[in-house]
Amino acid sequence: MLVGGVNSPVRSFRSVGGEPLIIERAEGAHLYDADGNALIDFVGSWGAMIAGHAHPAVTAGVAEQARRGTSYGVTNELEIELAETITAALPSVEKIRFVSSGTEATMSAVRVARAFTKRDFIVKFEGCYHGHSDGFLSQAGSGLATLGIASSPGVPRGFAELTLNAPYNGLAAVEKIFDAHPSEIAAVIVEPVAANMGVVPPAPDFLEGLRELTRKRGALLIFDEVITGFRVAYGGGQTLYGIQPDLTTVGKIIGGGLPVAAYGGSTEIMNLVAPLGPVYQAGTLSGNPLAMRAGIETLKLLRAPGFYETLNTKSERLVKGLREALLESGTAGTVSAVKSLAALFFAPRPVRNYDDAKLADTRRYAAFFSAMLDQGILLAPSQFEAMFVSAAHSDEDIARTISAVRASLKRLA
Ligand code: PMP
Repeated sequence: MLVGGVNSPVRSFRSVGGEPLIIERAEGAHLYDADGNALIDFVGSWGAMIAGHAHPAVTAGVAEQARRGTSYGVTNELEIELAETITAALPSVEKIRFVSSGTEATMSAVRVARAFTKRDFIVKFEGCYHGHSDGFLSQAGSGLATLGIASSPGVPRGFAELTLNAPYNGLAAVEKIFDAHPSEIAAVIVEPVAANMGVVPPAPDFLEGLRELTRKRGALLIFDEVITGFRVAYGGGQTLYGIQPDLTTVGKIIGGGLPVAAYGGSTEIMNLVAPLGPVYQAGTLSGNPLAMRAGIETLKLLRAPGFYETLNTKSERLVKGLREALLESGTAGTVSAVKSLAALFFAPRPVRNYDDAKLADTRRYAAFFSAMLDQGILLAPSQFEAMFVSAAHSDEDIARTISAVRASLKRLA
C-alpha cells in the first residue's frame, strides 16, 4: 500500500491531525471528496491551479491532445510554443529546458551553475524549499518544516556539506558565507517570495543585494520561481521586483496541473546543457505533449486583460478579512501576503525568516485548520505552507472563507 497513505508527505495531514482527504473530482475553486463533501480549496495543487480546477479551455486542450497521442519521445510543436511563451514572459530567460518536476528543475539548474562557474558550493536559505534532491534537504521548508526534519538520512555527508544555509532576508549572513568561501560558491538559490515556510516577502533590497553580491563574487543567482512564476506577476518575481537572475526555475502553473517544470537562463549559460554542451540532463517524459498543451492553455488564460488585477483584488479582500478577524478575536497572529499568496501565522511578530516562522504556534494552526475543514474550507495542512488564491474563487467563496475564519478563531479562543 501507499507509504503513510500518500505520495507526498504533507498530504498525510500529520501535523494537523485527522485523516488524509481522498478527492474524487475538482471544479473551479472546489474539491469534492469521496463522501460528496464540497470544499473551498486554498491548496490549489500547491499553486498550480491558478486558473481553477478543470478549466474548460484546459480540459478541452488536453482531451484534444490525448486523441493525438500522449507521448512521442521526440520533439513536438507544443514544446516550442510553450518555450516561446515562457521565454517571452521571463525577462532573464532566453533558453529553457523542460523537465517534469520542480525538483528536477532546481537540481539541474544547480548542476549548470556548478559547471558554468567551476565551483561546488551553493547557498540556500533556511525555510526555502527547492524540491527533494540531495543537496537541498537541509534546513528546508515545506514538508521538512512541517514534519520537523532538519536534514534527511540518506544524503551523504559530502553532499550536504556543499550546501550552506543563510537566514532568509539575511544579506549580511550571505556576505559572511562568501567571505568564508571565496571563489568556492557556484550559486545562491532563492525563492523571490519565500512560500514554503508560510509566506515571507523579501525585505526591500534583499534580492537586489543578492544580485550585486553574486555578481561581485563570481557566483550565479538562481531564482526558484516554481511557486512565484506566473503567480506574483505573469513575469514572476523577477518582473515584480525588477531583478535579473542568471538562472530561473519554474513549474506548477506552467503545466496547468500536469507534471511540467523548466529551468532556463541566458543563451550563454544554457548552451552548456547537452546536446550543445557537456552538462547532462534528460527525461523520458520531458516536454510531454499533454502537459505542454495544459500549460499553453493555462498561460493563455493568464494573458487575458485584467487577470492578475482581479486575482489580486480577491486575495487582498481575503487578507483584509483575515487581519480583521485576528484583531476582532484578539488572537496573537500575523498575516503575511504577496499578491495571491497568503499565510496566517499564529506567531507573535511579523515573519521575516524561518526563525520567526518557527515561533508560530503549530498546535493552534492545527486546531484552526480542523475548524476550517469542518466548515468546508481546505487550507494548507501545515503552518509552513501558503494559501493559494485562484481566479476561480468567487466573491462568495472569499466571503464564506472570511466568516469561517471568524467562527474558527472564536472557537479557538
Ligand atoms: N521549488 C519550490 C519553490 C517549490 O515550492 C517546490 C514544490 N512545492 C519545488 C521547488 C519542488 O517542486 P516539485 O514538488 O514539483 O518537485
